[in-house]
Amino acid sequence: MAERLQKVMARAGVASRRHCEALIQAGRVTVNGQVVTQLGTKVVPGKDVIEVDGRPLGTPETKVYVMLNKPKGYVSTLYDPQGRPKVIDLLGDEVAQRVYPVGRLDFDTEGLLLLTNDGDLAHGLMHPSRMVKKTYIVKVRGVPGPAKLRALQEGIELEDGPTAPAEVKMLDVRPPNSATLSVRIHEGRNRQVRRMFAALGHEVIHLRRTTLGPLKLGDLSVGEWRYLTDQEVADLY
Ligand code: URA
Repeated sequence: MAERLQKVMARAGVASRRHCEALIQAGRVTVNGQVVTQLGTKVVPGKDVIEVDGRPLGTPETKVYVMLNKPKGYVSTLYDPQGRPKVIDLLGDEVAQRVYPVGRLDFDTEGLLLLTNDGDLAHGLMHPSRMVKKTYIVKVRGVPGPAKLRALQEGIELEDGPTAPAEVKMLDVRPPNSATLSVRIHEGRNRQVRRMFAALGHEVIHLRRTTLGPLKLGDLSVGEWRYLTDQEVADLY
């Protein structure tokens, strides 16, 4: 049965329906090789070949789970109005399904990013009630003293409210220039780690996420990706 193009795209995990409409209007979607910009276009899923930026939609039913070591200088969103490099492009053609990132990492942040087309899992992991812990390795300018470490552990007052207590460990100290810490938090507010340290007067020089719930980045190189093992997927549920 024919359905509206943006509906089929959204169901395949490309983006929200509204965002899919924007992609269509921007001329980034082809149906059977022809660029389609009309929002009313109908397609038959499984018969018509739909491509977004030249990448086929794939079979929406097949769930895939990808761990990527995000480099600095990439956006984790699927669409960037400024046209900056996207993490999704690092996957190449091998992943046919339209996966999308679970949560975000800043443009300048490196590290573990999970991508999937499993909306239920993504939604569950992001829900604040799950309190999924993430570990960040943070290099800051200057060396935070014991009082500041205690403040991080107790919660920092930010403009959008106090942060929940963080688990903090000092890993390396290079007085007076820098220090490297491990910070474990379960919240995921916008630029949270950078803002927590800024509130204490320390600029973050380098930020890398190394764990997400039970997932560990391990020795995956920057810019590389791999599929999760069946055990890792099971542990996420
Ligand atoms: N906290 C930040 O400040 N940035 C990120 O990318 C992730 C957590």
